[in-house]
Amino acid sequence: MTRTPAPAPAQTPPKVGVVSLGCPKALVDSERILTRLRAEGYSISSTYDGADVVLVNTCGFLDSARDESLEAIGEAIAENGKVIVTGCLGAEAGLIREKYPQVLAVTGPHQYEQVVEAVHGVAPPLSHPFFDLVPEQGIRLTPRHYAYLKISEGCNHRCSFCIIPSMRGDLASRPVADVLREAEKLAKAGVKEILVISQDTSAYGLDLRHAEGKWRGRPVKARMTELCEALGELGVWVRLHYVYPYPHVDEVIPLMAERKILPYLDIPFQHASPTVLKAMRRPANQEKVLDRIRNWRTITPDLTLRSTFIVGFPGETEADFQLLLDWLTEAQIDRLGAFKYENVTGAAANELPGHVPEKVKEERWHRLMAHQQAISNARMAAKIGSTIEVLIDEVDDEGAFGRSWADAPEIDGCVYLNGETDVAEGDVVRVRVAHADNYDVWGEVVRD
Ligand code: SF4
Repeated sequence: MTRTPAPAPAQTPPKVGVVSLGCPKALVDSERILTRLRAEGYSISSTYDGADVVLVNTCGFLDSARDESLEAIGEAIAENGKVIVTGCLGAEAGLIREKYPQVLAVTGPHQYEQVVEAVHGVAPPLSHPFFDLVPEQGIRLTPRHYAYLKISEGCNHRCSFCIIPSMRGDLASRPVADVLREAEKLAKAGVKEILVISQDTSAYGLDLRHAEGKWRGRPVKARMTELCEALGELGVWVRLHYVYPYPHVDEVIPLMAERKILPYLDIPFQHASPTVLKAMRRPANQEKVLDRIRNWRTITPDLTLRSTFIVGFPGETEADFQLLLDWLTEAQIDRLGAFKYENVTGAAANELPGHVPEKVKEERWHRLMAHQQAISNARMAAKIGSTIEVLIDEVDDEGAFGRSWADAPEIDGCVYLNGETDVAEGDVVRVRVAHADNYDVWGEVVRD
């Protein structure tokens, strides 16, 4: 006998008021946004009355259209107060925010995803397991116990070897409340480790002017430090990837010392020679970076640093390369990925003088890897005898393996627990380290 599920309790769907100005293209944009919102259960209204949020799709083609758009924003604020602006005039966020600082979000034309995210931030959609085709935490391709959390798209830098900004555009951060709500859903769904990703995690929120969002009843700024503080409240591992070495990265180190987020930083330094860094259009004060790394390790002695480097960049001399090796000896990077420079269609570095012959690149790459191996060996050997926290990734009849704070999935090492079958995927256990090689460690679970 089958049983019909009991009807869900009636809930009032959130209401979105819409003002759509401008040409047919803008109208189609509005339709696409509203179709998506409607599919998510929102009710749509052409009035401000009772709307949980008002969406103003603007036009900025002529001066008169701009005036009309600004007037419509003013009216929506006066009538309702909770206003999100999108459309052509949205490309001039500064102008809108100057005139109406109380606007909740501004997005440009065709930014459907961002508009929908902004609406979610102000008036979250209803969810119910009987109605939703996808689980609340979304569909993920990672195992159940860890998940990637994308906080922004695009990049404001113009590194000469990279074409990402021309493909993905400038930095576009997700509203902070939206990011935090997604992280919270993941934690509730059983995720034990959140990996924060973007093209440039430390730039998070710059494009939003660090606009505040509401989370757990309080304002949170769209800024890396504040985001990390909030993520640290979820009680899961939080790991930062793709951090550009801005000075304010120093602010998250105390959060690592307090264990609010993992003491792990993935910073692609790319090189150490000021001349090469300048040609790469990267920050070139590596002496200062060394001081900062020393300071970070004073605050958080178990900090793991992962980085990537390019060898054989155009113009790199033997002296530049030697400088990189010496810098690595000082910096004691824990996990290192190295790439031989290659031209990428469309990248500015292709036109630089002094391209390095393949044979030299190859030889430098091997020297770099051998140099790093000695550093890694010593750093891994120092773990023997210590007790570390391990998140279990897989268990079978012969034992289990997982990862410690120092190991991101897919790119770093593993912790092997030979013969240990009394653990389950997603468990966090304490392990005493008995043996280590260049990348991995072996140990036994400590049971109190
Ligand atoms: S390498 Fe990274 S920081 Fe530089 S332009 Fe590309 S995405 Fe941006």
